[in-house]
Amino acid sequence: MNDCLFCKIGNGEIPSYTIYEDEVCKAFLDIEPLTNGHILVIPKKHYINVIDADLDFVTHAFSIIKEDLYPLLQKKLNCQGLTICQNNKYGQEVKHLHFHLIPRYTDDEFKSHTNKDLLIDTKDLFEKITEK
Ligand code: AMP
Ligand code: ZN
Repeated sequence: MNDCLFCKIGNGEIPSYTIYEDEVCKAFLDIEPLTNGHILVIPKKHYINVIDADLDFVTHAFSIIKEDLYPLLQKKLNCQGLTICQNNKYGQEVKHLHFHLIPRYTDDEFKSHTNKDLLIDTKDLFEKITEK
């Protein structure tokens, strides 16, 4: 995609603070980090989001996250946990697949559960989702 920001970061046309790179993916620091060490993992090929993506890429990305990036964040930044998230269409600002790796620390201010006050009946919801 010619005018896609993350395609340009993927091919090096736009600079990034690259933490990891191979033939199919790149991991770099988010420009507006939500916690210390917030990383984005992208495919070099343009997929819009996870619905559109090749599962081989998803598997590859998660093996890099598991084997390389999370251990690196633990070792270098002493994070105590990791929140992984990825927006699909709604809430997705950049329309090129990216996984957010958000390192977590004791008493960090990051709120991953902001809709706790929603009044949803779990039994009704379960019946709706599983209804044949
Ligand atoms: P999303 O809202 O899930 O599409 O997330 C897009 C993310 O891309 C945000 O966290 C931005 O801070 C980040 N971002 C946007 N432009 C850049 C850039 N040039 N380099 C690094 N991160 C970026
Ligand atoms: Zn792209």
